Amino acid sequence: MIQLQNYINGRLVPPSAGCYLPTLEPATGQPHAYLPDSDAADVALAVQAAEEALPAWRTRPAEERGRLLVRIAELIERDQDRLAAAESQDNGKPVHLARTVDIPRAASNFAFFGTAAQHFSSETHFQEGIALNYTVRHPLGVVACISPWNLPLYLFTWKIAPALAAGCCVVAKPSEVTPYTAFLLSELCQEAGLPPGVLNIVHGTGAKVGQALVEHPAVKAISFTGGTKTGEHIARTAAPLFKKLSLELGGKNPNLVFADCNLEEAVSTSLRSSFANQGQICLCGSRIFIERPLYEAFKQAFLQGVAALTVGDPQDPASQQGALVSEAHLQKVLGYVALAHEEGGRLLAGGQRVYLPGRCAGGHFMQPTVFESLPPNCRVNREEIFGPVVTLTPFDSEAEVIQWANGTEYGLAATIWTTDLKRAHRVAHALHSGIVWVNAWLHRDLRTPFGGMKSSGVGREGGIEALRFFTEPQNVTIKL
Ligand code: NAD
Repeated sequence: MIQLQNYINGRLVPPSAGCYLPTLEPATGQPHAYLPDSDAADVALAVQAAEEALPAWRTRPAEERGRLLVRIAELIERDQDRLAAAESQDNGKPVHLARTVDIPRAASNFAFFGTAAQHFSSETHFQEGIALNYTVRHPLGVVACISPWNLPLYLFTWKIAPALAAGCCVVAKPSEVTPYTAFLLSELCQEAGLPPGVLNIVHGTGAKVGQALVEHPAVKAISFTGGTKTGEHIARTAAPLFKKLSLELGGKNPNLVFADCNLEEAVSTSLRSSFANQGQICLCGSRIFIERPLYEAFKQAFLQGVAALTVGDPQDPASQQGALVSEAHLQKVLGYVALAHEEGGRLLAGGQRVYLPGRCAGGHFMQPTVFESLPPNCRVNREEIFGPVVTLTPFDSEAEVIQWANGTEYGLAATIWTTDLKRAHRVAHALHSGIVWVNAWLHRDLRTPFGGMKSSGVGREGGIEALRFFTEPQNVTIKL
C-alpha cells in the first residue's frame, strides 16, 4: 500500500510524529493508502518554509510565476489517466467522470491563473490638479487553502493556483478522506521546478492540521471549501485574529422547471445536476420544482432516465454512478431517506443501498433516489443531504416557486428552465443565489465570480475575485 508524504520546503517528508492514518477506497471499503497524521509541528515547519520562500516568490515577475503554473498544468494533462484513476480510487467517483471533469479542470485552474496573473492590474484615480491615487495590490503573504473530499484535486487547485499567481506562498491541506491526488500534485510540483516552500501540502485531519493552520499567527488568509458547520467554526477562530476569509460552504440548490422549457434538455441536464458524482457536488440541484402542467410529463421522463442510471464499479466505463465517499456518509444519506418517509414523502425511485458482487462487495453504493409529495419547507427540502436524493414538487405560480426556492438557509446555485427570456431574467434576479444557470447546469467560465449567499459562504472565488482575495490593496496618494 502506498504511503503518502507531506510536501514541505520542496521535499516529500514524513510527519514529524511518524503517525499515519489509513485511507479507504469507497468502492471496496478497503484501505488503499496511508496518509500522514500530521499535527501543529508539521504545520509550523510548512509555514516557516512558506515564510522563507515568500520574499523571492512575491517579487518574481508575474510572467515567470505564470510560466511555472502553466508547466504544472501541462504535467497534470500529461498524467491525466493516472490522476483520474487515483481520484476515482480515493473518492469512489467513476473513472470517466474524473477523466473528463475533475482532472482537466485541475489543469485548467493552473493554466487559467498562470496567465491571469499577467493580466491582473490595479486602479488609479486621478483628481485634476489635486492628486493622483494609485492602488498597489501586494500579495497577502502566507495563506492557507483547505479543501473538501467531493472534487478533491479540482477544488484544491482552484484555491492554490490563484494564491500562487497572486504572489502568495501557500500551506494547503486536502481532505483527509481523499488525499491521494494532492500527494501526486506535490510530485508534479517538484518536477515542474516550483521553488521550495512556495507550495507546501500538509496531510491530516481537520482537528489537528486544519485547526493549527487557522490558528497560526503567520497565516494571513484562509481560503476554505467545506461544510457550513466547519466554516462557522473557522470563522469563529479566525475573526479575532483578523485573518481574511473566503468560505465556500454547503448548498440546497433549487432547480426550477417552467412549463415552456425544452423538456428533453431539462430532463437530461436535471439527471446530471441531481446525480453527478452521486449527488456529492455542492452545486447539485436537489430540489426540483416543476410547473404543474408539465409535472407528469417531466416526472415520467425523469424516472425513465433514473431507471437507466447504472450503479457500478467506478473502474467500469459502463458505471454512471460510483460509490459514496464513506460508510458514514452513506449512512447519513440513508438517514435522510428514512426521514423523507417519516415526513410523508412518496418514494418514486431508489431509496436503497446497493450491494455489488466481487471486488466492490464492501463498497458504499446507493440507488439514485427520487421522492415526491414532500412539503417545500420540510427538513428533507431544507437541509443539505449531499447524496443521490432529490425531491419533485409541483408549483402553480412564479411567486410561489421563488418563495420556496429561497426558503432555505443556503444560497449557492440555482437552475431555471424556461424559453421565456423576460421570465429568465426576472426569476434569476429574485433568487437568493450566488450562481444562477438558465437552461444549463455546471457551465463554468473561470472568469466569473463563484460563491454563495447566506449560509453558503462569504466571499467569491474565480477570476479577478480570487486574485483580489489573495492580495492586499494599498492606496498611494501623490499631491499634484
Ligand atoms: P468538511 O467541512 O468536513 O471538511 C472540509 C475540510 O475542512 C477538510 O479538509 C477538513 O479536514 C477541514 N477541517 C475540518 N475541521 C477543521 C477545522 N477545525 N479547522 C480547519 N479545517 C478543518 O467538509 P467535507 O465533508 O469534506 O465536504 C463536504 C461539504 O463541502 C459539503 O457541505 C459541501 O456542500 C461543501 N462544499 C462546498 C463547495 C462550495 O464551493 N461552496 C464545494 C464543494 C463542497
